[in-house]
Amino acid sequence: MTYTIEGTTGAWEVVIGLEVHAQVISNAKLFSGAATAFGAPPNTQVSFVDAAFPGMLPVINRECVAQAVRTGLGLNAHINLVSRFDRKNYFYADLPAGYQISQYQHPIVGAGSIEIELADGSTKDIGVTRLHLEQDAGKSLHDQHPTKSYIDLNRAGVALMEIVSEPDLRSPEEAGAYLRKLRTIMRYLGTCDGNMEEGSMRADVNVSVRKHGEAFRTRCEVKNVNSIRFVMQAIEAEAKRQVAVWEDGGTVEQETRLYDSARGVTRSMRSKEDAHDYRYFPDPDLLPLVLDEAWVAELGRSLPELPDAKRARFMREYGLPAYDAGVLVAEQTTADFYETVAKGRDAKLAANWVIGDLFAAFNRTGRGIEDSPVSAAALGGLLDLMADGTINGRIAKDVFEAMVETGADAATIVAQRGLRQVTDTGAIDAAVAQVLAANADKLAEYKAGKEKLFGFFVGQVMKAMAGKGNPALVNEALKKQLG
Ligand code: ADP
Ligand code: MG
Repeated sequence: MTYTIEGTTGAWEVVIGLEVHAQVISNAKLFSGAATAFGAPPNTQVSFVDAAFPGMLPVINRECVAQAVRTGLGLNAHINLVSRFDRKNYFYADLPAGYQISQYQHPIVGAGSIEIELADGSTKDIGVTRLHLEQDAGKSLHDQHPTKSYIDLNRAGVALMEIVSEPDLRSPEEAGAYLRKLRTIMRYLGTCDGNMEEGSMRADVNVSVRKHGEAFRTRCEVKNVNSIRFVMQAIEAEAKRQVAVWEDGGTVEQETRLYDSARGVTRSMRSKEDAHDYRYFPDPDLLPLVLDEAWVAELGRSLPELPDAKRARFMREYGLPAYDAGVLVAEQTTADFYETVAKGRDAKLAANWVIGDLFAAFNRTGRGIEDSPVSAAALGGLLDLMADGTINGRIAKDVFEAMVETGADAATIVAQRGLRQVTDTGAIDAAVAQVLAANADKLAEYKAGKEKLFGFFVGQVMKAMAGKGNPALVNEALKKQLG
């Protein structure tokens, strides 16, 4: 089960730690009142503070602080009632102040953990080292003019949470599971939308390799990977590169690299500056951030039920297997949908329909739970028609397809198309007699001992009845007539 990279000198273990930048859901920036909406025209959401005009002073946004605390609580992490903002100094064209306000030695959130679920059904706790608040930078646009670069400061000053993991991850699969779980938790909390395409969640991937049982070796950091798939690919590519370096008698140097997804390789960007190059010092414009314990406790009480708790409850309350429960709680909207369908009905059957037929319909129609072609109430209605014997399970599949196509409810479709299950034993007996008469050769084989043919007769009778026969009664009638 252990993931390794095979080299000429044997197996190498891969060690991974992730630094995730998650954009805080908030109407305004971390230290200014400018708006944060995605996709606004360039430089329309920039205050004097964001543009670093002289004399402008940052004012902390209380909601961003609350969001960071909620996220920390959702990661079972220690909340530091006193934290501090520092200036991280560097020059970049899209950083007008010449420094980023970040939290260096005293982050708002300390150690926590995230439980990940793996494909083989096992779980593993991954340590979270810290979460701190910081500002995002602006964006340089190099493709708008042949000789000039443009700067868009809309993103400058937007609140980010940097969430740093311990080097506890050991495979691309674990890294992918970690990112998915972190994203799910933040979506439940409403603290980050986790949209990697829009850049509201980005990952820096730290990778090293070692022989089993050894101390950690030097790591490289692959910067700003913007999809989970690319994170997983980048880990594999980078680990293979490092194994080759070590086995060639070389040394892996600590550096920052980029993942080239078109070529499937990482390449060097810059050697890693030491932290002291940033000349961190406490921002003199900001007091230490001191939180009221009662306020933190109140935020804790107002958190929604989180995915792990919900999954445990689904297993307990609805008797679902771990796999089903895990799939259903991955998005809160899916979990809510499921609960509406399952309430007062066969909960396992409801799970099968949501995970199987409904998800398949999403794939076909390109829709999702938010604009589902079949509402939770309508799917529940379909299950009710099966439960009270109006239709059989086979016909239910057709009714569901018609519901997806037409948007009508199950009862209407059943009535309009005459799909009621036939329980009239006279009609069933007649269909059975007709099938047996039409298949005299098969009947003879059956009587000669080929009992497997029973299933064939069931199929023929159902076909003769356009799928509408009550399966139990069809079986009974066949048994009777076959003697
Ligand atoms: P920095 O502040 O220089 O980025 P950190 O000590 O904060 O360094 O670590 C950054 C990330 O690197 C963390 O996610 C951590 O888990 C990871 N990391 C540390 N050592 C290793 C290693 N040997 N191999 C892989 N990842 C590592
Ligand atoms: Mg770092």
